[in-house]
Amino acid sequence: MIVSRNSFNPSTQSLQVIAEVCQFLATLLVLEGTEKITEDEKKSLKTMLSGRLRGMPPVFASETCERCLNLLSPDEESRFMANSVEGMLEKALRQCGGAGCDRETQSDGSALMQCGRCKCAVYCGTQHQKQAWSMHKSICFLSSF
Ligand SMILES: [Zn+2]
Ligand SMILES: [Zn+2]
Repeated sequence: MIVSRNSFNPSTQSLQVIAEVCQFLATLLVLEGTEKITEDEKKSLKTMLSGRLRGMPPVFASETCERCLNLLSPDEESRFMANSVEGMLEKALRQCGGAGCDRETQSDGSALMQCGRCKCAVYCGTQHQKQAWSMHKSICFLSSF
């Protein structure tokens, strides 16, 4: 997709892409922490994200970008959020993602099955994977870009 700088007219599809990239970035920032990012990098990321935020109607995309911006300038609240997200991610990789299910193995005792797409969620069986999909699809994206 080629987007000219002067006539940036985001289609729903490109907004979706931006949202996914931001979500990926947010996850990365939570996992890696912001200490390793230099001030210059933070500044240019902020400029880029703020630019993208302008004229972006879909709530989802702008919320995700805002989350990234908050992570880049961590205050108490977002640090707390980052910690709880980290906890959630850890849990998400240890316990079945099915609602109310806290199994850590499949029913036959073997390791939980991973979401084949993002590998960021695990399930005790296909039934719970299907059940969780309506929620999971909003955060499921290919983890390798
Ligand atoms: Zn389950
Ligand atoms: Zn997934």
